[in-house]
Amino acid sequence: MEECLFCTIARGAFGTEFLYEDDQVVAFEDLHPQAPVHVLVVPKRHFDNIVDGVPAEVLASMVAAAQAVAEKTGIASTGFRCIMNTGSDAGQTVQHLHMHILGGASLGEGLIAQR
Ligand code: 5GP
Ligand code: ZN
Repeated sequence: MEECLFCTIARGAFGTEFLYEDDQVVAFEDLHPQAPVHVLVVPKRHFDNIVDGVPAEVLASMVAAAQAVAEKTGIASTGFRCIMNTGSDAGQTVQHLHMHILGGASLGEGLIAQR
């Protein structure tokens, strides 16, 4: 089976700079940033999305990554948004579980059409 894009990035094949890495996840900048800070947290193992039987240790690492990235990019105190688009109605375009971390500007109060 062909390897997916985020599996390839997460194993370091493209030499992507990781803002955070542990045994479960990596974090790197989004190619098309939608906010001054826009980082993706991506598990090293392939899961399609958050409803694909993701083990607790992977979820724990994703949260640890969010905290580490927020601190490293200076948005921990000003606030940020964590988004996991899941399936077609949510507009998931890459079918490998990932969490967007968005911040560095006011993102407003709405939940819909904000990312
Ligand atoms: P989704 O719409 O699936 O929630 O988010 C996918 C995200 O992956 C998009 O924000 C898109 O800009 C980002 N993306 C797609 N291809 C690449 C890539 O090759 N490198 C990086 N760094 N981000 C990517
Ligand atoms: Zn994958």
